[in-house]
Amino acid sequence: MPVFFGLRSFLAIALVALGALASLLMNGDAQGGLIVLVCGVAAVLVASGAHDDAPTAIVAAPAVPAAVQAPQLAAVIEAIAEPLLVIADHHVEAANQGARELLGQHILGEDVRVAIRHPAAAERLMDPQDGANGGPIHLVGLGAREQRWEMRMRNLDDGRRVVHLIDRTGSYAAERMRVDFVANASHELRTPLASLLGYVETLADEAGDDPEIRGRFLKIMFGEARRMQRLIDDLISLSRIEAEKYRAPNQSVNMGDLVGQVCQELSGSPRAADVVTQIGDVPPIRGDMTQLSQLLHNVIGNAMKYGREGTPVTVTLIPDGTSMVRLTVTDEGEGIPAQHLPRLTERFYRVDSGRSRSLGGTGLGLAIVKHVVERHRGRLDISSVVGKGTAVTILLPLQSVS
Ligand code: ADP
Repeated sequence: MPVFFGLRSFLAIALVALGALASLLMNGDAQGGLIVLVCGVAAVLVASGAHDDAPTAIVAAPAVPAAVQAPQLAAVIEAIAEPLLVIADHHVEAANQGARELLGQHILGEDVRVAIRHPAAAERLMDPQDGANGGPIHLVGLGAREQRWEMRMRNLDDGRRVVHLIDRTGSYAAERMRVDFVANASHELRTPLASLLGYVETLADEAGDDPEIRGRFLKIMFGEARRMQRLIDDLISLSRIEAEKYRAPNQSVNMGDLVGQVCQELSGSPRAADVVTQIGDVPPIRGDMTQLSQLLHNVIGNAMKYGREGTPVTVTLIPDGTSMVRLTVTDEGEGIPAQHLPRLTERFYRVDSGRSRSLGGTGLGLAIVKHVVERHRGRLDISSVVGKGTAVTILLPLQSVS
């Protein structure tokens, strides 16, 4: 019930009314009694406006919450993106869009073993106890051949079962990549290490007394140790770049100067004389100086390594529209067959492993380049013509430096 006055206000008005009645009875003065009553009530109302404990304004009663409409089961499962089925008596009673896309539009009403054509799934789906205590099962080959699904089941109180399919293809691929990476890195490190140990053992024997053999072996050992060092340096760089993936680089980098500096640093290598640079007028970019230097080392270094002796390596740097700079490094080497191009930026992927190793390659150079380009929100393109040569193009956003 709405509350108009506080309790004290009500008592005060009652007293005023009593006073007015007494005045009327004692004096027989109806007008006087009425005036007393009206003034008294007004005084009480004014006085109670600010001081009453109870609220003086009309307080609206809390609105009755609108009844929550229970959505239909079909609407609920349709709102879930992952494939979901409701099974009754081993038949598909309901299936959301995700399930229909994966298993076919015809599955409604079908025997669940026909709907989910998978032997492992069928066995579990026919076991009445499974939804109560069975763990998830993994299905390969449902939908596309490479896809991997996790199937979970729950028994409802009324005997129906909810089957939930979760796409694990991405996480499986990431896990595979991680396992492969560790295996590859261990293998790459173990090979020079085994070689080093072999030479150390031989030197410890009589062979170590021969100065000629000792000198030759020490040179090989130095090469193997350097190979391990390059590999470890590249592994550390890669993990640093990955760790900083989501941190935008914030240095002002003059790419023209950096290209000059890297070419200078590479000037000790055998093919340095063949590098021709064409640097246009490009404004500084917002970047990470160390990582961009490494990118240039890897791309220009590759062109020098895999380019044909005596042919030029060309490095051009020009503006690309108003918001990007374009770096192109071309060589006139053997080129790369088209089927290898999409995989070149994978860790340890090499077109010719023997050649890469003999030239001091770690197989991580282009993987590092890809990560640096991604961190700078740039683009990487590698094109190649077998027998003619390779061109690596990198676009980097200018992002005016504040
Ligand atoms: P590596 O350390 O082996 O050079 P990268 O990751 O830099 O590793 O390159 C991967 C592979 O791509 C190399 O092993 C090589 O087979 C190929 N490649 C890279 N750049 C060139 C190029 N300019 N010309 C021909 N092949 C190249």
